Amino acid sequence: MERQDATVVTVEEEAERMLAGRARGDSSPVTNHAKADMVVAMPDRPAIPEAIKRSVRQRCAYGCVICGLPVYEYDHMVDWSVTRRHVAEEITLLCPVHHSEKTRGLRTVDEIVAADADPANRRVGWTAPYGLSFKSTDPATLRIGSNWIRWHESFSAVVVDDVVLFGFRRDGTSLGLRLLLHNEFNEPELVIENSVVLLNSGAWDIQFEGQLLTVRRSLGDIVLRVRFEPPAQVTLERALLAYNGVLIDVRPGSTEFMVGNVKVRTVGSLAEAPIGIKAGYGPRHSSIPSMISAPKIDRYGGAVQIAPPGSDADDESDE
Ligand SMILES: [Zn+2]
Repeated sequence: MERQDATVVTVEEEAERMLAGRARGDSSPVTNHAKADMVVAMPDRPAIPEAIKRSVRQRCAYGCVICGLPVYEYDHMVDWSVTRRHVAEEITLLCPVHHSEKTRGLRTVDEIVAADADPANRRVGWTAPYGLSFKSTDPATLRIGSNWIRWHESFSAVVVDDVVLFGFRRDGTSLGLRLLLHNEFNEPELVIENSVVLLNSGAWDIQFEGQLLTVRRSLGDIVLRVRFEPPAQVTLERALLAYNGVLIDVRPGSTEFMVGNVKVRTVGSLAEAPIGIKAGYGPRHSSIPSMISAPKIDRYGGAVQIAPPGSDADDESDE
């Protein structure tokens, strides 16, 4: 469906445009720690083939080889400019912090190679809690407040205007994280796709300790906290996600959360659904069942979402 009337550019388009701009050397207010291995179509640098990436992920046990963080970037241990080739054994996984340390010369190549030979997630036994590994082939469950959702495959926890802000792609027994965080101007600041950091403005601090994945603004406000409980449970403890003027606010221990101006009280139900919270309009997700659906909501900052042509803006029989 064409969305010519929509005033809102999807985050994927926005991120692509920004990344393409940087690849051309345009000035941009956003700095990027992932530049060494960014997924950018550069004429002299083909993308790493998927089969090689998969082999690297498996060898490194789905996390930074130094600290185990399951949110990572692909790093050519000896720089691409030297080797000019993609060979699985020469590529490793580093989290944004450790990648940046290497880029700045605070970690030697020898140190990275040694860590690659003994990845953190294998050292600690990566089945739990590191690695977002779900050994069970049973359906996984997501808890928000006192409600539960169960799903079999990939799962979207929060969707606003057809854009998945937070969700998981299930790949066999591992979960790939997707997270999109925006600033107050609706520009993407942190883009994580299938656990790979594609864009990080530097304003975000990603931590994984014990069972808890925590994402903070650099000044300390927690915007996301997720608890992983293998074999197959994920709990959204805290979320403060904003997009297109919609604010999703989930607080720990509370049986209520906010979707824009709508207060949602959770009631201890279990739903078979692949979406947790769905807000606003969107043809791609409109017919997919969700725990909470709020098609019409007030938006902050005077933001207006125009329903795409063909969709019925007044139709609340979404669920
Ligand atoms: Zn690390």
